[in-house]
Amino acid sequence: MTRFIFVTGGVVSSLGKGLASAALGALLQARGYKVRLRKLDPYLNVDPGTMSPYQHGEVYVTDDGAETDLDLGHYERFTGVPARQSDSVTTGRIYSDIIASERRGDYLGGTVQVIPHVTDAIKQFVLKDTEGNDFVLCEIGGTVGDIEGQPFLEAIRQLRNDLGAERTVYVHLTLLPYIPSAGELKTKPTQHSVKELRSIGIQPDILLCRCDRPIPEGERRKMALFCNVRGDAVIQALDVKSIYEVPLRYHEEGLDDVVLRTFGIKDAPPPDLSKWHEIVARVTAPEGRVNIAIVGKYTGLKDAYKSLHEALTHGGIANRVTPELQWLDAEIFESEDPIHRLEGVDGILVPGGFGERGTEGKIAAAKLARERNIPYFGICLGMQMAVIEAARNLAGIEGAGSSEFTNYKVAVVGMMTEWQRGNQVERRERGGNLGGTMRLGEYPCDLLPGTKARAIYGMERINERHRHRYEININYKKQLEDKGLVFSGMSPDRSLPEIVEIPDHPWFVGVQFHPELKSKPFAPHPLFASFVEAAVKQSRLV
Ligand code: GLN
Repeated sequence: MTRFIFVTGGVVSSLGKGLASAALGALLQARGYKVRLRKLDPYLNVDPGTMSPYQHGEVYVTDDGAETDLDLGHYERFTGVPARQSDSVTTGRIYSDIIASERRGDYLGGTVQVIPHVTDAIKQFVLKDTEGNDFVLCEIGGTVGDIEGQPFLEAIRQLRNDLGAERTVYVHLTLLPYIPSAGELKTKPTQHSVKELRSIGIQPDILLCRCDRPIPEGERRKMALFCNVRGDAVIQALDVKSIYEVPLRYHEEGLDDVVLRTFGIKDAPPPDLSKWHEIVARVTAPEGRVNIAIVGKYTGLKDAYKSLHEALTHGGIANRVTPELQWLDAEIFESEDPIHRLEGVDGILVPGGFGERGTEGKIAAAKLARERNIPYFGICLGMQMAVIEAARNLAGIEGAGSSEFTNYKVAVVGMMTEWQRGNQVERRERGGNLGGTMRLGEYPCDLLPGTKARAIYGMERINERHRHRYEININYKKQLEDKGLVFSGMSPDRSLPEIVEIPDHPWFVGVQFHPELKSKPFAPHPLFASFVEAAVKQSRLV
């Protein structure tokens, strides 16, 4: 029997509902249960794929090629369960499906309405593809009271009647602000937010209360009384230094116990939290530090590179060090020699990105890394920039660039309009729709014997996730190889370069895919573990 846990948020946004859901998922999993996590986002975009990272943060890509909310990244990092297309939905997706059905005539002349048609579609999404799981955790995006969120709350309200109280639990995440002049944590915003929820028919079972200091007993009792929950269901969620402490702290506060009790489960095995203790020990007591510069574009918003940040932390966990990250806007290096800021760093990473702005700065950073033997990790656009740099400065291809931009004479990186996926050919038109039309999701890649990539992964064939429209043009492979660039990872049909490296360098690797999406704290991605290891070696040289 699959049980459902609905996680809503109140008071303010950005309280970390995604992390809270992920951590609760990890705790249930640590007790031997099978869990899935999914996200219901009330905004009208069909998916976040076309949104600016400044609007939305990172777009997280699943194996099956869905462009999703970054919370799916937290879910995967905390539980190791690969997220799927069926784990993410938005109002835009629901409506576009409903309108397509209406146009086909599927409603047989009926009036199409929010209740029941939209709410039914939301319920179908929640219930679909859940077989074999003990718990499905559904996070509702936004904050209670948002206009867009109402159909979602109505749908999960109905689900308690449809499934029964023994299969549904509502967790509400709120904030207890500390008011210095009163010297108190305030419960009123929580009371109001629960009142709002109850007015639409949802009585939360558990309150998860974010706070920056412990909640006194009196305040707990007050919340239980006014919000109509049991005393032990008011769970304190204190701020922590590392997100990986969250499962341990929640367990100490009794969250998983309360959830199981609310479902009426009495015989649950105790959780095995040893891996979380080990991760937290490594993160909080590192044996050293390395300086890594990230030369990117959306450096003003850390969420834009969420998975990258986490994957570097995981690389640090693997090497028992803390990567100190310096986020640099690539545009600086279009007017300033990168040497001043990058000479002393232990590693340079150029992440993925879109558009021309800052690309010459990224190329300058790649050149410096190559010439000065500083470990370099290029991801997606970061790989393309490294190849353009090598084409210009090693192979002497004047005007080498990408057809994504305007300033090129020779498109060493060009748009792909046709490629192989399994046995099928995928085709795209130049100038076609922007949404969902990139090379998206998991593709296999063969690693050439004797290369660094092969040694790092320790296997012949890997599968990694993609999200890009442009590719290294295979026609320049020979010319670049003659000048020392090795194409160490290729698509199985050998038409798409997936990894390049420079053997005559301490660590210079570019990958066309996004390895950061698959890294986990308990299974750091081999490329990140190896890159941080190279940075550790570099730090000993300086
Ligand atoms: N803009 C490049 C492309 O579309 C790189 C994309 C990325 O870095 N994710 O190919």
